[in-house]
Amino acid sequence: MKYDITITGGGIIGSAIAYFLARTSQAGSIAVIEPDSSYQMAATPHSAGGIRQLFSLPENIWMSRYSVGFYADFAQTMAVDGYPAEIDFRRQGYLFVVGPKGAKRLEANYQRQANEGVRLELLDRTALNRRFPSIGSDDLALAAYSPDDGWLDPASALQGFRRKAKSLGVTYIEDKVTALETSAHKIKAARLQHGDLVKADIFVNAAGAWATEVAAMAGMPLPVEPYCRLQHYWLCQAKIEPLPLVKDETGLFFRPEGPGFVGGRPSWDIEPGFTFASDEGRFSGYFDGYFERVVWPLLVQRAPKFDAVRYERTWAGHYAQNMLDGNMILGPWAGGASNFYVACGFSGHGVMHAPAVGLALSELILNGRYSTMDLERMSYRRIVNNEPYKEKGII
Ligand SMILES: Cc1cc2nc3c(=O)[nH]c(=O)nc-3n(C[C@H](O)[C@H](O)[C@H](O)COP(=O)(O)OP(=O)(O)OC[C@H]3O[C@@H](n4cnc5c(N)ncnc54)[C@H](O)[C@@H]3O)c2cc1C
Repeated sequence: MKYDITITGGGIIGSAIAYFLARTSQAGSIAVIEPDSSYQMAATPHSAGGIRQLFSLPENIWMSRYSVGFYADFAQTMAVDGYPAEIDFRRQGYLFVVGPKGAKRLEANYQRQANEGVRLELLDRTALNRRFPSIGSDDLALAAYSPDDGWLDPASALQGFRRKAKSLGVTYIEDKVTALETSAHKIKAARLQHGDLVKADIFVNAAGAWATEVAAMAGMPLPVEPYCRLQHYWLCQAKIEPLPLVKDETGLFFRPEGPGFVGGRPSWDIEPGFTFASDEGRFSGYFDGYFERVVWPLLVQRAPKFDAVRYERTWAGHYAQNMLDGNMILGPWAGGASNFYVACGFSGHGVMHAPAVGLALSELILNGRYSTMDLERMSYRRIVNNEPYKEKGII
């Protein structure tokens, strides 16, 4: 088998890259190698689907701005045979809330976001109480509210990219890359679990939390580790006004979902690695009773009406956490095989950045440079040079 471009990993990132390459009709033949078309272990369907422009780094703001517009038109842009690709994009806003110590940083970020053209408001405590009376604000000083942001159904967005890419001629191979064959500083072929050899001119590693494993097959070190993140769904007995996605300095976030709420609170006290629920849906060890023990007390502090919740369920997904700086790594393997590209390390932002990443990487692969937005600072070179490029404030 021979393709012009093969992409390892068909989650939202690999599928968005495939779509943006294919829509140019310059890319030639494209294959996505993905072992699990049900995406049972992939991060994408387990995500909260939050889409926000509240970042401090310009690249993250640019990517989100592009993605917000793209997702707003997704149903029509990604329609296949006249069937719209519905993703239930709810532009109900994002709300970052901080205490006195975080206020200066929130204000600086607000300034930068506003300068980049993001529509948002700073709310002091009085304005916050008026707008969102259910938010507990005793410990808060300031909030940033971006009404154009929101959330979508990430599994539908992934399927939308995948279906459209296939309709444009992309081949999805249901198999797993187990080895990469190299010669003369180039990757020549990918060996698959079922024995096939796939040759290509260009290889893209979009294997999410498994990206380090795939890169190692070519001898490329990556600082990306799987980090288990639990997400919970609960119902609330009390009436609460329509809320945006709320996030605070403890890492707690929540948003409405159907009749209830989804949310969680990432923990950094765990070792990297994969953790999944038992067949009965239970978590053991550190995550045993995590909602009651860790998340619920924080929820009650942030929204006292959550005192009366009915807990429904918990599920796990895995961040592909870039241990250097928590930001994505995008572009060719600087210092290694020149035809090996990575798109990984998205930490908690891969769904919101997928359209921008797909567009930008397709430009880089096909034209040798970025034209819509300059993402050079997100390249692998900062990993080689050990130069972290970090977000400031709530991440
Ligand atoms: C609980 C949780 C909440 C989140 N909330 C948000 C949010 O609100 N907003 C947001 O933007 N992001 C969020 N994220 C992050 C987001 O889900 C990820 O950044 C994004 O889904 C990454 O997409 P991906 O395609 O890189 O990875 P994945 O979806 O994991 O896809 C990677 C694919 O690679 C495949 N693969 C692995 N190894 C191989 C191999 N050897 N050969 C071939 N294929 C292989 C896997 O089968 C998998 O399907 C959240 C994540 C979690 C876990």
